[in-house]
Amino acid sequence: MENSKTGLNRRKFLASSLSCAVAAGVMGLSPRIASAQNAPAKENDKERKLIYREFGKTGWKIPIISMGVMRVPDPGIIKAAYEAGIRHFDTAANYQYGRNEQMVGNIVDKMGIRDKVIIGSKILIPAQREALTEKNAEERIDQLIDATLHRIKSDYIDVLYVHDVSNPEDISDPLILDNLKKAKKAGKVRAIGISTHTNMSSVINKMVEVGEYDAVLTAINFTMADDTELHNAIEKAAKAGIGVVAMKTMAGGANWPNPESRRNYDAQTVTRAALKWVMNNENIATSIPGFTNYQHLSDDIEIAYNLDYAPNERKLLEDNNIKLSMGFCRQCRQCLASCPYNSEIPTLMRIHMYAAQYADFYLARRTLDELPKNRGLQACTSCDTCLAECANSVNIPEKINDLKLMYA
Ligand code: SF4
Repeated sequence: MENSKTGLNRRKFLASSLSCAVAAGVMGLSPRIASAQNAPAKENDKERKLIYREFGKTGWKIPIISMGVMRVPDPGIIKAAYEAGIRHFDTAANYQYGRNEQMVGNIVDKMGIRDKVIIGSKILIPAQREALTEKNAEERIDQLIDATLHRIKSDYIDVLYVHDVSNPEDISDPLILDNLKKAKKAGKVRAIGISTHTNMSSVINKMVEVGEYDAVLTAINFTMADDTELHNAIEKAAKAGIGVVAMKTMAGGANWPNPESRRNYDAQTVTRAALKWVMNNENIATSIPGFTNYQHLSDDIEIAYNLDYAPNERKLLEDNNIKLSMGFCRQCRQCLASCPYNSEIPTLMRIHMYAAQYADFYLARRTLDELPKNRGLQACTSCDTCLAECANSVNIPEKINDLKLMYA
């Protein structure tokens, strides 16, 4: 399949990038073996070696660029990512209603590379956690794990995350934690973790306190540079041996809401500046950009060779207009109190991101349908009380109006 915008298809991608992976000596090797052969890239390094980092205390070393598979339309992109040196693939039980895990499992099985890759997946979305009781928790979690194992065609999951945790109490909930530990002891899971988009610093701090988790998948990007609590929590987690994985590194995707704001920067500058900003934090083991075509894979994998900023990348990161125009909702929930009608503003902002930036209208519709009616679009009367309530310059009323045009 050729990307109409870039003209880059699988064959052209491989021709342009495969030689780099071969030179790096990573193809066909287990992550551990490959890492031993690949020291961090140095300036002007002619051999262009991928930069590897340790994944917490797991003993794994993986490239600093991994793959978020969530929105991938074509398993050929996963194959090309592996051939380019990527060794860690992130999916979830509820992405594409299970078909995302299936796609990863099928291609990994077909290529015969199960022992050479790390598969991260996620179970127990909030609604499933709420339905757990002392009586059903063990059986229910076991069923969810077995279903994921079946879909990824494996007898183990490398990293199993509890999906989308915002309440620190969930971290120590014995109904969850004890059963994850049982799965790990039984060998069905190699590492256990938490994924978090909201209240991240409190969630991560609690994980450190509990001391049982191996990995955390957290939202972080350059629009959150002022979130010192999050940066401190990430540092604490890394020091405690928790593998930190970054998501939302592009602040909501390549299609920024205000294209005018980026007229001075080409697409590669945007991608590379954003990803380098995240991965220059050595407390973060790897990141999972969600590239969905060969051009984006090509742009993203370049970062794994060299984290030095080009002048225009540095300029973009210092450009306050860019940060303001991004309108990235960091899900901090501070705006909630401003709404007299109790609209679930952060979730509505996330739905807007799915529709306007990911162009995933199906996921947007589904997430909207999951919201209680009295907290969704119907609750909003367009009173504009929330205008200027967001510390991250999100124009909340404008985005809600967009959603009303699309879905109300
Ligand atoms: S809209 Fe702004 S205040 Fe509300 S959750 Fe998002 S970032 Fe926080």
